[in-house]
Amino acid sequence: MNNFSLKNNNYIDIINDFRNLIDFINYNDVLIEKMFHILKKHFNFEIAGIFFNSPDIYGINTLNLLIKNKNNNVQSIEENFFNHMSEFKQIIKTKSNIIQMKVNDYNDKNLENELIVPFLFQNKLLGGICIISENEILKTDISTYNFLINELLSIFKLKYLYSEQIFKSSVDGLTGLYNRHQFDINLNQEFNRSKRYKTPFTLAMIDIDHFKNINDTYGHQFGDFVLKEISKIIQNTFRKTDVVFRYGGEEITIIMPETTSQNAILPLEKLRDKISKHKFNNQNVTISIGVADFNSDINTSDDILKKADEMLYSAKEHGRNQVKVFLPSSH
Ligand code: GH3
Ligand code: MG
Ligand code: MG
Repeated sequence: MNNFSLKNNNYIDIINDFRNLIDFINYNDVLIEKMFHILKKHFNFEIAGIFFNSPDIYGINTLNLLIKNKNNNVQSIEENFFNHMSEFKQIIKTKSNIIQMKVNDYNDKNLENELIVPFLFQNKLLGGICIISENEILKTDISTYNFLINELLSIFKLKYLYSEQIFKSSVDGLTGLYNRHQFDINLNQEFNRSKRYKTPFTLAMIDIDHFKNINDTYGHQFGDFVLKEISKIIQNTFRKTDVVFRYGGEEITIIMPETTSQNAILPLEKLRDKISKHKFNNQNVTISIGVADFNSDINTSDDILKKADEMLYSAKEHGRNQVKVFLPSSH
């Protein structure tokens, strides 16, 4: 009898702990910290990890680790964890985020016990946790454990749905590229980063040639098909670190970090060539590209946009189906 009421209290405590988490669903760091706190109550561990799967296909997946000893081989923990997770979904880009525990009584024994739990909903991987310990992991009984896992699942569901909403609001529905709103954010970020660290970045502005004719001749639906197809080709051509956006109607921009315009010419020329040879339901379509990079003539993020746009205009003037690069006076 006594035991039963104790258990009930335990469940109410857990419910309250999780209820409090909901307020922090969009504050990643706080959420993770509070989740670690809950895990500490119920598990013995030297290392614990929390991972929220990103619905953003271009995003980086992070395993947040709480560790007692920095000497632990973080890379192998991360590898092992994501190997387990990838049984449920292909995981492409990963990284670790390490928080050190305040207690430092852990000595470097071989860790024996390991618990890795994926959280799934409707065939989607929402995320996962891992717990590694040299002692017995579970502090509580198995039914409390199951209860805890179910509460965690709710948090993972909520977090995923929330992230999915954010991702959807940054993506263009037709092409699947990031939208104009996201472009403005990224361009500003990249500009500030380049200014601060004095690293280059390149902006390419792509416009489909005579797109109005394409629409008028073959119909708007065919125009949409061309736009989608070109978007796909661009995404498959460039590195994962180069980010592609639908800037407006039939205009697409690429932000290429750590790249000078000189270095951008080759892949952009390749892209232009590839598209000019591609058959869109037996039709040929060409693109024009204006390119500018971060350099001495650029003072604001608007400047680089203006330069790329000028170069695009020049490519159109010179007969379309070509790449034009802005060369600053100091080059
Ligand atoms: P230029 O070579 O100078 O770029 O000529 P253009 O015809 O491509 O240029 P213009 O800017 O006059 O025309 C752009 C056209 O793109 C007009 C617009 O109807 C079409 N467009 C914009 N967004 C979409 C879309 O989402 N789907 C389709 N099918 N057409 C679109
Ligand atoms: Mg246009
Ligand atoms: Mg056009």
